[in-house]
Amino acid sequence: MAESVETGKSYSIKVCLPIPVKGAFDYLSAEPVPAGCRVMVPFGNRKIMAYCVGDAQDSSNPRLKKVIKKIDDSPLISGEMLSLSLWMEKRYFTSRGMALKAILPTELKGRARDFKVSGVLPFTADLRKDLPDMPESAGNVYVSGSGEFQKSFLRREMEKTISAGGRVIFLVPVMSEAAAFEDILGGFRAERFGSDILPSHRYRMLCDFRDGNLDVIIGTRSAVFAPLGEKGLIIMTGAQKKTYIEEQHPRYSAEEVAMKRAGLSSGRFIASGGALTVEQFYRVKKGEAWAVYEKNENPARRIVCDLLEDSVNFGVSAQLLKNIKKTLDEKKQVLLYSPRGGWATSYVCSACKFVMKCEKCDRKLCVSGFNLYCSSCKKTFPVPERCPRCKRKKMKNRGIGRGLVASFLRKQFPGNRITAVDIDSSPADNKRVYENYEKGQLDVLISGPGFAAVRDWSKTGLAAVMDADFLLYGDDWAAEEKTYLWLSSLAAFFASGRTDALFLAQTKIAPALAREALSGDESFYEKQLDVRRKFAFPPVARILKINISGRATAEAALKIRADIKDKVLEISPEGKGLSAKGGVEIRVKIEPDAPFEIEPMRGAAVTIEEER
Ligand SMILES: [Zn+2]
Ligand SMILES: [Zn+2]
Repeated sequence: MAESVETGKSYSIKVCLPIPVKGAFDYLSAEPVPAGCRVMVPFGNRKIMAYCVGDAQDSSNPRLKKVIKKIDDSPLISGEMLSLSLWMEKRYFTSRGMALKAILPTELKGRARDFKVSGVLPFTADLRKDLPDMPESAGNVYVSGSGEFQKSFLRREMEKTISAGGRVIFLVPVMSEAAAFEDILGGFRAERFGSDILPSHRYRMLCDFRDGNLDVIIGTRSAVFAPLGEKGLIIMTGAQKKTYIEEQHPRYSAEEVAMKRAGLSSGRFIASGGALTVEQFYRVKKGEAWAVYEKNENPARRIVCDLLEDSVNFGVSAQLLKNIKKTLDEKKQVLLYSPRGGWATSYVCSACKFVMKCEKCDRKLCVSGFNLYCSSCKKTFPVPERCPRCKRKKMKNRGIGRGLVASFLRKQFPGNRITAVDIDSSPADNKRVYENYEKGQLDVLISGPGFAAVRDWSKTGLAAVMDADFLLYGDDWAAEEKTYLWLSSLAAFFASGRTDALFLAQTKIAPALAREALSGDESFYEKQLDVRRKFAFPPVARILKINISGRATAEAALKIRADIKDKVLEISPEGKGLSAKGGVEIRVKIEPDAPFEIEPMRGAAVTIEEER
């Protein structure tokens, strides 16, 4: 239904809507709307916030609907960000409107009434002076080493950028990790862009950042879209963390976006963290990025223990036991990492091999205290006296959990305070355990991944991984890379820049891989790249999942297969891949930079997502 145009000057503009439909729509506005501003427009019989992407060609069409309201006084989406949205549309198989919604969510708006910019903190950090130099032309940089080294490097690069009039986006994997960087942000006008802050205040922060009233914006992955301007710097700490990949459509990678933005705005990108991912190494190799490492690391303080060549008791090798004793004798603390909570990892019938599983989720139950426990449902079950299948009294504990390791070590070192983090204890209990460790009130702590809550490791003389292989048992093509990154980051975390701390990894199936990880051996990457070239895995290929649903699923799937089969490196076999929603999933591999698109089809909804 066309609305009549009022007399007087009007402007026709092109807008993108935050819906998964491609293309732009024309509207009329009574006032000029610069590209990058959001406007409220009628769409169907509702009002919707949309993004102006430029002027429309023809303003004489009387059938055009009118803009209801201009939202932004001046654009928060710059020309660079508009170009970024075009790139995201292709890269992440989305519409430009959805890409713009990721860049500037429609809910960020309004007057920030009681908003106050926080005061500038004093600069107190004690920084390292021996930092490596870097060519001016290095647009993408990966920095790895101890926390102190990374922070000193980041501070220097932030100073360079800000003193030259640029601004900094400072990304953290999760907001709670921002506190660890407070000391290097002193002297800058910095704000936390957290999701706990009112949308109107977040909006105001973005305006202040754009206008140069803020030097640094600190946030998680979505802060990568803050209005940076020319010659800015995007920093990504803990760069190997999964939280940098968006979980919902469009599933962007903050790292890819950051690199793209730096390229579009004469800016720079620095990722800091542990060892490089295979993909990052590949970029360095191709000359697209520059790597900076800490020099004075101490590989002699990193030991791999091959469990097949040592005697082992309750999961503790003779070599580990010897080092625990030595550390305790030196009045230092020991941290043992084991992802296996409880006493035993499973409860099994020794006669018929029946394994006790959770009634609800079918996962293996572990033994915790006098009960069985499902760590996924957080539910406790009674221990059966007889095997539920063969009815014999043959049920036994199997696998070594943290509780059992603790009880074994208590017998070995009776004078010491030894605790395991229970699998079924409350977050408050765990917090207390980690605090006690930090205060030096525990000598040995056996913990799962929660140990990251401990900030001060200066009293820890030995950190050991009980089982370095646990990621390798699944069928994940990236399992070796994950193990390498995990081990090398732990080793760097505990033993970099220190000569009084030892890191030890126990392994049964991957001693060579563990040694490469602990020594930072680059041949690991070359081997990984060889395998990935051979079998077409990232970064030498992209894996895409095409999901087809709707009443015409079957025909659409056939047509898509026929259309794309010559354009992809590999396609999943027909008849497989029924998705949960009753649709069909086709998995393909494509060249990393190959364009890929599927034409819309009647009766079928098609989505494409990258597997990472
Ligand atoms: Zn049985
Ligand atoms: Zn369960």
